[in-house]
Amino acid sequence: MLNIRNFCIIAHVDHGKSTLADRFLELTKTVPLNKMQPQYLDRMPLERERGITIKLQPVTMIYNLNLKSYILNLIDTPGHVDFFYEVSRSLAAVEGAILLVDASQGIQAQTLANLYLAQKQNLTIIPVINKIDLPNLDLETVKNEVSTLLKVNPKEIILASAKNGTNIEKILEKVIEKIPAPRGEINKPLRALIFDSVYDEYRGVIVFVRIFDGQIRAGEKIKMLGSGAETEVLEVGIFKPDLIAKENLLAGEIGYIVTGLKEIEKCRVGDTITQTRTDAEKFLRKSALSPRKSAFVEPLPGYQEPKPMVFAGLYPEKGSEISKLRQALQKLKLNDASLFFEPERSAALGFGFRAGFLGLLHLDIVKERIKREFGLDLIITTPSVAYKIIFKNRKEEIIHRAQELPDPSVIDKILEPWAKVEIVTPTKYLGSIMELCQKYYGKFLSTEYLIQGATDQRTILHYEMPMSMLIVDFYDKLKSVSSGYASMAYEFLEYRPADLVKLEILVAGEKVEPLSTIVYRETAYQNGRKVVEILKKVLPRQLFEVKIQAALGGKIIASEHLPPLRKDVTAKLYGGDVSRKMKLLAKQKKGKKKLLKLGKVDIPSEAYLAVLKR
Ligand code: GDP
Ligand code: MG
Repeated sequence: MLNIRNFCIIAHVDHGKSTLADRFLELTKTVPLNKMQPQYLDRMPLERERGITIKLQPVTMIYNLNLKSYILNLIDTPGHVDFFYEVSRSLAAVEGAILLVDASQGIQAQTLANLYLAQKQNLTIIPVINKIDLPNLDLETVKNEVSTLLKVNPKEIILASAKNGTNIEKILEKVIEKIPAPRGEINKPLRALIFDSVYDEYRGVIVFVRIFDGQIRAGEKIKMLGSGAETEVLEVGIFKPDLIAKENLLAGEIGYIVTGLKEIEKCRVGDTITQTRTDAEKFLRKSALSPRKSAFVEPLPGYQEPKPMVFAGLYPEKGSEISKLRQALQKLKLNDASLFFEPERSAALGFGFRAGFLGLLHLDIVKERIKREFGLDLIITTPSVAYKIIFKNRKEEIIHRAQELPDPSVIDKILEPWAKVEIVTPTKYLGSIMELCQKYYGKFLSTEYLIQGATDQRTILHYEMPMSMLIVDFYDKLKSVSSGYASMAYEFLEYRPADLVKLEILVAGEKVEPLSTIVYRETAYQNGRKVVEILKKVLPRQLFEVKIQAALGGKIIASEHLPPLRKDVTAKLYGGDVSRKMKLLAKQKKGKKKLLKLGKVDIPSEAYLAVLKR
């Protein structure tokens, strides 16, 4: 175990993690040169197209240093805040992290967020400044920032170019020198942490594991401590980064286990795997430990369940594909542990799922993966946050859509989620950013300088902000007021009371439940106005006049009229008596009244979508 090093690369998005991993793969000859391509570890086509890492990706490399051979297990991680859970799971499987900072960008918000996470896990941090090949760099300032942040001597920071391959060996040497070899005992009962998984049509669930104690090989019976599932191991192996089978996995190693399990819910990320009792006892008789002490092992700490922040309805474009969509979501969840979903039904769209995401990019990626990996086109309803209802009888409930909002008479309070937001920006944009935050209901906490006394000052802004404001377009606005220089990170803080109301929509006097939304009281009018205007444009005209209204607790706050389709009943009358014409029109009017009374307007699903997608 002394020759193993387990580590991650963490950084803000685009600072060069995947490119640095490429150089490691070449240097260690893990991937033959003729097979190499940029960002090799971004293995999903979607990652390659968008140029971002979405999934963590482990790889085992062999590196020779001073006549000794080392096993380096690297996990490449995403940098975007929506995929934070991938980073946190990776960090729990390793002993150290390379902290990569782009020399032209300096420390960014996600650099800080990832670093704090790594420090919380007591990981050894190797600071590296990347992209030193770029022109016009102020390397001294960036070095100063990094050394201040990590409280290390600037000489400790490695200056590298992942693009040109400068100082890559130095980084690996530092990894071997500084990051501790994994501890853990081969002779103890097996304890393996599941940090990721995928579904294989033929071999069932394949779990990605870090072995903390003991060892495992094919044919052994294992048990998941959390779910209680038992199975026989079909195969174990390592990532090269393709799956390569191996005789056994030992304490300290990172690898995979093919479980053969087809029931996806039995394999949970964060669960601990051990041998079943009989297997453990057999093993322990051989190893002279007392079976009593060993038959039960303590589960590893696992992970905090990620909290979905954004909720939306997912409906198959073809209603008949609902069961295909359920399977797709189940399989995807295995590979994306932060995805949440439960069945829902909408009058307009039929059967579907209410799904929870870590952010809008996450939503977008899930939609795209469902399309590509499962061939399903989806209709997605307007994203919203979750709300917490406190009833007058003190009971609490979290709701994910407006239709679930109970009658106001039983509600004591409605709470909305707030986020803790960190923004890193060149100081000159401070004013416009603070103005923007105010507009988004942000509560200012404090500012601090990244480093004292530098000429080109950069500031960290600390804010609290309602999640509902954050998820709309705050990030785009932040980028535009700072000419692209500001970056941000956020995390869920707590639920806080807010003055929220249910905005209801009525068409021809009837409530259209799926169009209800939860809005701030002070923006209700504006929102209501917008919806009735959209509906007026998209609803087909009827033979009678149709009222389109927005209401708050039964009170109409905005209204539009959709004029009737006027069938020209007098067309057949050539000239002739005016009174006859009037008589006919009067008859028509009467008929219309009847229709209106009986009338129910059929709302086509395109109209729903126009409003929901607004
Ligand atoms: P990640 O998001 O941290 O994984 O970053 P990537 O590895 O995908 O790199 C982001 C961009 O930076 C890509 O266009 C890379 O080609 C570029 N890049 C990475 N390392 C270097 C470097 O050392 N020098 C220069 N000039 N560009 C780099
Ligand atoms: Mg990457």
